[in-house]
Parts: sequence; C-alpha cells; structure tokens
Amino acid sequence: DPILEGEPLDIVLAEPRGFCAGVERAIEIVERALAKYGAPVYVRHEIVHNRHVVQDLRAKGAIFVGELDEVPPGAVTIFSAHGVARAVEDEAGQRSLHVIDATCPLVTRVHLGGQRYVRQGREVVLIGHAGHPEVVGTIGQIPGRVHLVETAEDVARLEVTDPDQLAFVTQTTLAVDDTREVIAALQARFPTIVGPGIRDICYATQNRQEAVRQLAAETDLVLVVGSPNSSNSNRLRELAQEMGRTAFLIDDADGLDPAWLDGRRSVGITAGASAPEHLVQGVIAALGRLRPAQVRRLTGAVEDMHFRLPAELADPEPVAR
Ligand code: SF4
Repeated sequence: DPILEGEPLDIVLAEPRGFCAGVERAIEIVERALAKYGAPVYVRHEIVHNRHVVQDLRAKGAIFVGELDEVPPGAVTIFSAHGVARAVEDEAGQRSLHVIDATCPLVTRVHLGGQRYVRQGREVVLIGHAGHPEVVGTIGQIPGRVHLVETAEDVARLEVTDPDQLAFVTQTTLAVDDTREVIAALQARFPTIVGPGIRDICYATQNRQEAVRQLAAETDLVLVVGSPNSSNSNRLRELAQEMGRTAFLIDDADGLDPAWLDGRRSVGITAGASAPEHLVQGVIAALGRLRPAQVRRLTGAVEDMHFRLPAELADPEPVAR
C-alpha cells in the first residue's frame, strides 16, 4: 500500500549489536597502555576493524603500524585483537619490544586448538577468508602446513598428506550457515576429519547473525553500522541480503543516502562487533531528521561475556588488611 503522509518511519534495533567483549578489551588495552606508559604507544595493525575507533585512539597518541620494523626498539607495542603469527612474536622478542597482546582470547583458543591437532600428528585445514589478518595470524600460529579453504569448491581441490590424519579449525567471524556447508564438504571427502564444528565462530558473531536474521524478517531495509574491512559486519549485511532485504554497510550517519528510505516503512539497524554504539545513535538521529520516526528494539540473546585484561594493565588487587 502507499505510505501515508506523515506515517512515521519504524526504526528497529537488533539485539545484541555492536561491541563484543574482545573489542572492548582491545580498546581498553590501548587506552590503559597510553595512561600507564604515556604516548606514543604503537599498535600493530588496526586494533579492531573500525575507522572511528582507530581515529579516536590515534588522536589520544596511538601510532598504528603495518609491521614491527616501523616500531622503535624497546617501545610499547600492542598486537591487535585479530592475533599475530609466531614469526611476529619472535621478531618482537628479537627487537626487545615491550609487547602487550590484545589478541581476543577466543582467537587464541583457535590457535591453541590448531596447535593441539598438530601435536596429535594431524594436518590442519583452516576455514577462513584469505588475507584477513586473523587468518594470517592463525596460519602462522600453527606449525607445519595449514590448508586454507573458503568454500566447498576449495575442499574439492585440497591435496593433503594423509586423508586420515586431518583436523579443521575456523576463523571466528564466519557466516554460520556457509561454514556448516564447508564442514559438511570436508566431512564428506575426509570422513575421519576432526574439528570443533561451528564452535570456533565466536558467541558475538553467532548472536549478531541470529539478531540480524530476526531484524531482516521484520523490516524493509537493513543498515549495518561497521567499516568495510570488518569481517563480521560484512557477514551481517550478506545475511540480510540473502533473506531478500536491501542492506547496506555504513561507517556512520554520513554514509546514509536519503533515497534509501523512499517507499520504505521500516529500517532495521544493527552494528558489527567493532562498531561503537554512538555511531548507531548518530544514524538514528540522522534518520529522524529525514522522516518522523519511532524507535523500538528487538529482544535477543543477553551477553555477559567479559575478558580479563593483561596483568600489567589490570586494576591492582584491593589490599587485604
Ligand atoms: Fe573476539 Fe569474537 Fe569479538 Fe572477534 S568478534 S574480538 S573473536 S569476541
């Protein structure tokens, strides 16, 4: 039916959305390192894949570098939430850098899983996106040959040493359904392969995918707040699109195109795990300036995950008397 004059736009917010525990921890690590050691502190790679977060921390005195040879000897150096290869850890040791590791504990768990499989004498298949820093780090944390696959077609092309001594692990931010397909292809071709199923996909990724599914079912248009290089944010946009919704990934309110609202009664908003909530609020405010609007939020999984900070940055224990 035609949209009636003055009919308010229904803005629907996904729950949960935005920051996960690993991103909160990584940002806090940079902020506390700046407070404790003073600027500058060096951060290898974007601490999390969000343009605004990186700009804010840069303004506070963080210097982002691509590789460690850009860091002066001995300087405070933070590894990003995505994790790093062994070779990077070794290089940091050789250059006597003061390393603070902001690798998400759920990424570390994948590294440890892969290393355990190698100790069992297995060759590891990693399901993930080529070139993503987490994938580069995970491959570099697992000794020996690691086979990277993205799709079921890649599985068909795999050449392994011993088809009966295989294991798989996955990137933490993959699409759950696509990953199930790749795992099924691995199991069909290598019936004795072992692995964690989809459990390497982190709770935050899984919860946000479930929430965007609900959002896409209830709205005409889906906006995902997140940066273009954010893996989990891209998966959210793709999921909404697979459900037949028009969906856009935007960094902030400036990415909005007013024409997107033409003929639409409702707009769903979610945010990737690295996108701050104030950007979501900015998008809501901008939509409200384009059309009278009402906001409601969906109900979804309640998250209470929290990761401990590295000891040197943790609050001192209260002194017992
Ligand atoms: Fe950790 Fe998941 Fe957040 Fe990545 S998205 S930082 S794996 S909790």
